[in-house]
Amino acid sequence: MTVIGVIGAGVMGVGVAQNLAQTGHDVVLVDQDEKILGDALATIARNTRMSRLMGGPALDPDEVLARVTTAVGAAGAAKCDLVIENVTENWEVKREVYETLDAECGPDTVFVVNTSAIPITKVAAVTGRPDKVVGVHFMNPVPAKPAVELIPGFHTSPETVQRTRDLLTAMGKKSIDVKDSCGFVSNRVLMLTVNEAAYLVHEGVADAESVDEVFRSCFGHPMGPLETADLIGVDTILYSVEVLYEHYADSKYRPCPLLKQMTDAGLHGRKSGRGFYTYA
Ligand code: NAD
Repeated sequence: MTVIGVIGAGVMGVGVAQNLAQTGHDVVLVDQDEKILGDALATIARNTRMSRLMGGPALDPDEVLARVTTAVGAAGAAKCDLVIENVTENWEVKREVYETLDAECGPDTVFVVNTSAIPITKVAAVTGRPDKVVGVHFMNPVPAKPAVELIPGFHTSPETVQRTRDLLTAMGKKSIDVKDSCGFVSNRVLMLTVNEAAYLVHEGVADAESVDEVFRSCFGHPMGPLETADLIGVDTILYSVEVLYEHYADSKYRPCPLLKQMTDAGLHGRKSGRGFYTYA
């Protein structure tokens, strides 16, 4: 049976691995050290239990965990014939991972890029298999979100797109087809909103609670932009806005200094226990 490689065991990689394992797929989950991987397995077990308590599918956490093995370093996915990459939104980090994957994996292995903004064609260009590289912008939390953006790069083959679409269907996801463009559809809009919301706090126009309250109470959004920033990761928001700013060279994407300061200070949102809000 096919084993799917999931590279990066942070916010997204854990969600992707959990979603795959819960839908009957065997997974090798890869990150940089054993501590991160141990925490990731504990999160998958906890989230599977929570899903059952909250009326989700009744799945046995032990059965789900039995489908997930772990490995340190991207070479751990060498035997996989499809890999979903979810490492930090930083070009140098992603480039190095793809160079390793390209050298270690068989020539037919498909690489699925999970990124907030980096163009898929740029990623594909560092590999010797641009026809087998495709973008999937998963939404967070992955197991709970019903749809993704599916993004072929310039050279992606129809077979690669179909194979990926089939896997997404098996994971319970609808694929929304989007052309390759920095930030795709979702983050061209969302990152602007979150960055501007951070500016409102930075300039003292309103505090985070009031900004979010406007979106919830006036617009009926389930979450405000700064709660969303904490869910995504304040550091990931900053890196994504930086990618958009560099790519489009447009001042509308200028990163808010408060996002930079919070990232430097370790206020990364839910995953670090503190961001715009504090978590127990
Ligand atoms: P994260 O910071 O939570 O996790 C990134 C993980 O990658 C970390 O565990 C890190 O140790 C690991 N990593 C870094 N270098 C590595 C390497 N060389 N080999 C193996 N692992 C390595 O980030 P995230 O929020 O999970 O985001 C991952 C990707 O998904 C990013 O490209 C991000 O833009 C994208 N994304 C994020 C969200 C979101 O809501 N957070 C949504 C959609 C897409």
